[in-house]
Amino acid sequence: MKYISTRGQGGEKSFQEVLLAGLAEDGGLYVPAELPQFSLEKIRSLRGLPYNELAFEVIKPFVAGEIPDAKLKEMIDDSYAEFAHEAVAPLTQLKSQQWVMELFHGPTLAFKDFALQLLGRLLDYVLTEKGERAVVLGATSGDTGSAAIEGCRHSEALDIFILHPYQRVSEVQRRQMTTVLDTNVNNIAVQGNFDDCQAMVKQCFSDQSFLPENTSLVAVNSINWARIMAQVVYYFHAALELGGPDREIAFSVPTGNFGDIFAGYIAKGMGLPIGKLVVATNQNDILHRFFQENDYSKQGLEHTLSPSMDIMVSSNFERLLFDILGRDGKALADLMATFESTGKLSVTDDRWQNIRKLFDSSRTDDQSTCEAIKALFDRTEYLADPHTITGIRALEEVKIDSSMPKVVLSTAHPVKFPEAVEKAGLESPELPHHMKDLHDREERYDVVDNELNSVKGFIQKRLSQ
Ligand SMILES: *Cc1c(COP(=O)(O)O)cnc(C)c1O
Repeated sequence: MKYISTRGQGGEKSFQEVLLAGLAEDGGLYVPAELPQFSLEKIRSLRGLPYNELAFEVIKPFVAGEIPDAKLKEMIDDSYAEFAHEAVAPLTQLKSQQWVMELFHGPTLAFKDFALQLLGRLLDYVLTEKGERAVVLGATSGDTGSAAIEGCRHSEALDIFILHPYQRVSEVQRRQMTTVLDTNVNNIAVQGNFDDCQAMVKQCFSDQSFLPENTSLVAVNSINWARIMAQVVYYFHAALELGGPDREIAFSVPTGNFGDIFAGYIAKGMGLPIGKLVVATNQNDILHRFFQENDYSKQGLEHTLSPSMDIMVSSNFERLLFDILGRDGKALADLMATFESTGKLSVTDDRWQNIRKLFDSSRTDDQSTCEAIKALFDRTEYLADPHTITGIRALEEVKIDSSMPKVVLSTAHPVKFPEAVEKAGLESPELPHHMKDLHDREERYDVVDNELNSVKGFIQKRLSQ
């Protein structure tokens, strides 16, 4: 198993290289040169396995022997042992032929734990083997920082610095980050907004000379291939629970950067019978416009009630475009250059028709989000978070064979997004049992000026302590 860049340069890379690199040198994203193929017989043989054992079987071919099996197995076991539900990704039926797969039973109550729990452990192992250290640096508007922190807190070879805008993050989200007291975890509250935080992270990546020797920055954002790889597993899990691979399953996925749903596309490419993949967006609908009108064009950012899907461009979409263009790296690089200069792109009609056979899409605005949360609750007493509801609502809009089982990926616990739940006229739920004492836990964070040199200085100082 080797990996290549979507923009066609740089040759083949190993799993470990791709894991540490994040983005490829030519600006592209890494994808497997060829996908491992699972026969129907092989997939059937996975039926009934506990989640961690299934995960090992699905992930193993992507790692291609670069980590000893026993070690990989141990990391996977440890990653999913952190989850508060025995089934790890339980399915709840909402109506005939429709389920939600709850991906929010991990330590930070959102699906990103599935990938980041494993990514932290993989990075730790690979860096330790090489005798190197790395610094994980990221910015968060609230939701995603905590998953990265939880994923890295036990890593000996990693220090993690997460920037968040001071006093502009909800209390639950801040506490999920700042009550992690491990010595390698550093929360920086920047006296600025999220864009300031993100800009400074970018600048740190482009000039890493402020770091000590033998230390580099690694990105754990959703373009890292290992995150996609970990997310492929739960598509197999859901399908196997619902009669796959002997029938086709449809998935509806609340989507921002296209990482989560791309993992479903990979599962299909490996041989899992998936009948439909539905892209559910909020008002930031660049993907919806692509799948409905072949118009992938950048518009302004809208802040919505489902903030983890607030994007202008969808970073992992390039991976699908690469396949749409017949895996022609040169053609993709040209198309991305067009996009960078004009802010829009489209593909030829036959290529677009072809990808539309598998993908459909739907857009849900804030008002429909609240209405749908309320309507679902009134009908079933199931409380969906504002991201998940976009996936549920999408199934009312798109046409799928009524006898096909449909699974909505539930990406977050509703307690994380009380604003939408309250706007829907419902009461915000209580924190789950294992987090009940969140508001009593000790917090630690440092407030830093909105200045690049202050942030760099802070990181330097911490690393030398
Ligand atoms: C990150 C996130 C999403 C979007 O996932 P992508 O992989 O970026 O498409 C959806 N819902 C929640 C709660 C998230 O945290």
